[in-house]
Amino acid sequence: MTRKTKDRIKALVFVIVLALGWKYPYLAYCLFVNVAVGLVGALRHGGRHGCGNFCPRGAFYSLLPDTGRKVPTKLLSRKTSLFVMVAMVAGLYLWMRPSTVRGWGFLFYAMIAITTTVGLVGWLVFNRWFWCSVCPMGKIYKTIRPERTAIRVADTCVKCGLCSRVCPFGFTPPKDTQDGLFRNPDCIQCRRCIDRCPRHTLTMEDGL
Ligand code: SF4
Ligand code: SF4
Repeated sequence: MTRKTKDRIKALVFVIVLALGWKYPYLAYCLFVNVAVGLVGALRHGGRHGCGNFCPRGAFYSLLPDTGRKVPTKLLSRKTSLFVMVAMVAGLYLWMRPSTVRGWGFLFYAMIAITTTVGLVGWLVFNRWFWCSVCPMGKIYKTIRPERTAIRVADTCVKCGLCSRVCPFGFTPPKDTQDGLFRNPDCIQCRRCIDRCPRHTLTMEDGL
């Protein structure tokens, strides 16, 4: 199955939760499955593996048209991003006062709806990868064993820059290596650069 097909399936799941969650708020509990998968990915593979390989929201954004603008990778620090998330949950709690499982489902659904709207505005203003650059969960994952996965750059690289063009964050692995390895905690390990390289220069070194 190609990545595009996988992304379409994940995006469909996301759209179903978004479209029906207000009526069936239990669907919003899927959020925790996604978080659990992200945490397992971070522990097993390191860093943001879950973002680039499993996140349905990330898959949804990846299918949006490219605006051609750059995503601001340093827009929000980890502390600010986490503070915004905690403030949003606290604000929603004070507003909704959930006391049942269904009520909490509504709260989680509201979180999904608000953050998705923020991501869509970020897409229109910047780039479809905007949300992935500010996502609080991504910032948590990237602190978990960020050193574990790296991209090895062979010396066959001709510096054509094609890998950088397909990278959501515009990283150029051959430019930023140490001992032939590109390590960046913001890399979501999506492998787009690896698949795009015409010289098969890049390989993912998993579980170092
Ligand atoms: S696409 Fe391949 S050859 Fe081109 S710069 Fe990237 S790693 Fe080097
Ligand atoms: S460097 Fe490669 S694997 Fe990492 S985010 Fe960019 S395209 Fe994906």
